[in-house]
Amino acid sequence: MTVRLRDLLLGFRDLRLGKAPVIVHSSLKSFGQVEGGPETAVNALGSIFASVMVPTFTYKAMITPLAGPAENAITYGSGADLNRMAEFFTPKMPADPLMGIIPETLRKYPHAKRSSHPIQSFAGINTDKFLESQTLTAHLAPLGLLEQSDGWVVLIGVDHTVNTSIHYAEKLAGRKQFVRWALTPKGVVECPGFPGCSAGFNAIAPDIDKFARKVQIGDSTVQAIPLKMLFKAVITRINKDPLALLCQQEDCERCNQIRKL
Ligand SMILES: [Zn+2]
Repeated sequence: MTVRLRDLLLGFRDLRLGKAPVIVHSSLKSFGQVEGGPETAVNALGSIFASVMVPTFTYKAMITPLAGPAENAITYGSGADLNRMAEFFTPKMPADPLMGIIPETLRKYPHAKRSSHPIQSFAGINTDKFLESQTLTAHLAPLGLLEQSDGWVVLIGVDHTVNTSIHYAEKLAGRKQFVRWALTPKGVVECPGFPGCSAGFNAIAPDIDKFARKVQIGDSTVQAIPLKMLFKAVITRINKDPLALLCQQEDCERCNQIRKL
């Protein structure tokens, strides 16, 4: 089955989000074959949604120092090989392939802009005020502003393990944040407020299912969730159980650190 621009336009329109701003996490492959590739998907997103933001994170710019603060879920001095391969962050650095091809395509879209956090930047179309709210110490601020603007998260063929907005809600619930470091042309920059692990985030799905709007486009299930409801659900869960939404991997440094605290 081949998905065409028209299928994408009709599908995204069926979510009925009006002029609400959206943050999109996506897998292009989830649709099956898309005529015109990622450009078609970005055109459809830009046509239907008034404001579209995507994560354009750049993990290649991260480095592990020899020493740093305690209880930081990192093995200092362990990253020598990765440090050697680290690249200086610049605004033109491609988004990490983990984000999928749609964010990288959107980043290069004619009217798109990108924020400047060296690890966790966002790009968007008509999202200037959200992008401008980001600082080095408040790198998830664009997601908070999206929530205040009655924004939605749109998950295209992906699950909550990539739903960055849950990290912002975790922070609001008082969950521990970490410090990470990025290589930039101005030197190594400390990036506080780095979130925990997201591998356990699918546990939130039953709590928000009743607020989710779902459509099928090609082989992909596309769902939209109002950020206000998502934040409320995450904060409620963590208030009830401080270990909620952590992953079960025995060697997960960040989840284990939170358990220890
Ligand atoms: Zn984990």
